[in-house]
Amino acid sequence: MTNKGRSIDARPEPGASYDLLVVGSGAGGLATAVTAADLGLSVAVLEKAPVLGGTSAWSGGWLWVPRNPLAVEAGIDEPPEAPLDYLAGIMGNRVGDPRIKTYLDTGPEMVRFFRDRTAVDWIDGNKVPDFTESPGAAAGGRSVCAAPFDGRRLGPWIAKLRPPLDVISLAGMGIASGKDMAHFFNAMRRPASALYVTRRLAKHGVDLVRHGRSMQLVNGNALVAGLMRSCLDRGVDLFTDAGVSALKHEDGAVTGVTLTGGTRLHARRGVVLATGGFPHDPATQARLFGAETGTAHYSAAPATIPETASAWAPRPAASCARI
Ligand SMILES: Cc1cc2nc3c(=O)[nH]c(=O)nc-3n(C[C@H](O)[C@H](O)[C@H](O)COP(=O)(O)OP(=O)(O)OC[C@H]3O[C@@H](n4cnc5c(N)ncnc54)[C@H](O)[C@@H]3O)c2cc1C
Repeated sequence: MTNKGRSIDARPEPGASYDLLVVGSGAGGLATAVTAADLGLSVAVLEKAPVLGGTSAWSGGWLWVPRNPLAVEAGIDEPPEAPLDYLAGIMGNRVGDPRIKTYLDTGPEMVRFFRDRTAVDWIDGNKVPDFTESPGAAAGGRSVCAAPFDGRRLGPWIAKLRPPLDVISLAGMGIASGKDMAHFFNAMRRPASALYVTRRLAKHGVDLVRHGRSMQLVNGNALVAGLMRSCLDRGVDLFTDAGVSALKHEDGAVTGVTLTGGTRLHARRGVVLATGGFPHDPATQARLFGAETGTAHYSAAPATIPETASAWAPRPAASCARI
């Protein structure tokens, strides 16, 4: 089952089976879907919002990946222990978590995979220093950012990409980190920057007239667009308005999901939960973290209705777990 030719408004077919079901369409979910499809699995991504991308589509699109290929190719070749020393200074004994070593060991391979085999591309962070001055901090070379992406490459699927966050875009036009942003800062001082900004704004105006939105995608918007393109290229089915309300358990394994409307889907190999956090669900926060959370904390993550578990349609099947 593939979405080659599938309309952007297609709904999941009740009872359909996939090798892998991915719940959530942020960078975590879409990257999982691309990787699984690249390995030959049939995959569906299920997103509760009417658009794809979650918080990831609003983000800066930066990834902290020490020893990444863009740094190494530029001659920044630090020993494997160096980033671990930096993390130890910040995280203390939590740095012993084996997942951290796995992340550091395999992060560079991830960056290379997406650059070489998918529609995602990167710009380097070779001059971007670590955030703190702890021991082991580097002056650059430990991060990459999603390269700008031409939204027209998504065809009709551009309508399904969450637009950039309004407060960090200019009338819907994202401004990329690095050279792009520097030109905007210098527009009133340097003629070359003024010309650059004028061209950018003119192109944005044309995009608004022709497409109703910016097609010069940058930062997290570019990251999600590149991942969407890579999913579509591999026949991954992308479904919006497809909130998962329950997981099906059989013989100790998760073998499917139930959507809020009651549609059930089967998973032959597994279900990946990539649903981000629950920043707009004070009841669940209070239950899991105590009274000092919930609305006391502001979150920039998008709020999608229904927000709380109680708003989900009830699925009281004995073999299903609410999520
Ligand atoms: C303004 C801003 C800038 C940031 N910049 C950076 C940065 O440069 N670098 C960095 O590392 N981090 C950054 N972050 C943080 C980063 O964006 C998040 O940590 C990251 O996007 C989380 O990705 P995710 O895939 O786990 O979740 P999300 O991107 O939030 O995706 C989760 C998706 O799951 C969906 N979902 C939830 N429940 C269900 C359900 N039951 N059924 C179906 N779908 C469901 C949600 O609707 C959402 O679309 C930034 C955050 C913000 C707000």
